[in-house]
Amino acid sequence: MNTSYLLIGGNLGNRQENLAKAIALIGNQCGTIVQLSPLYETAAWGNTNQPAFLNQAIALATTLGPQQLLQQLLAIETSMGRIRSQKFGPRTIDIDILLYNHELIATPALTVPHPHLPNRRFALLPLVTIAPHYTHPQLHKTITALLQQCSDDLPVILFAQ
Ligand code: AMP
Repeated sequence: MNTSYLLIGGNLGNRQENLAKAIALIGNQCGTIVQLSPLYETAAWGNTNQPAFLNQAIALATTLGPQQLLQQLLAIETSMGRIRSQKFGPRTIDIDILLYNHELIATPALTVPHPHLPNRRFALLPLVTIAPHYTHPQLHKTITALLQQCSDDLPVILFAQ
């Protein structure tokens, strides 16, 4: 069995309902949801002229390999109506693989740990609630330490437990 930490987020439609739907689909199609973080709200990163995002981190126990997991998650995004139009643009649902066991993966389709994890408070803050002592396999620092040294100053607000 493998453990993967995912970040789900969205800023269109009923955001909370969309996160719940994505979690149900991930639980059905990818493995067992082991832990869920609270929901956090963040102003949009990059392209700021759009609604705020809700984000949540998930610990998933899965028998899928990393590439299979990615394919399944992309299929879930598509089934939920995600259309990739603009980078940093609004989206119903976005699912990122933050971590997969303690593996380092660098292929054209998949980079794990997620390369932006150390610089994004909206990913670190939910993740630290479920994996505070997890050591980043490349930076050799815990998620707690990465959050403490993160210089991203975009406010991330607790939205719901
Ligand atoms: P975006 O939806 O803008 O986050 O980009 C998704 C694309 O990034 C996917 O088609 C993946 O091939 C690629 N990708 C690379 N690394 C990851 C990762 N760790 N998690 C999710 N997608 C990834």
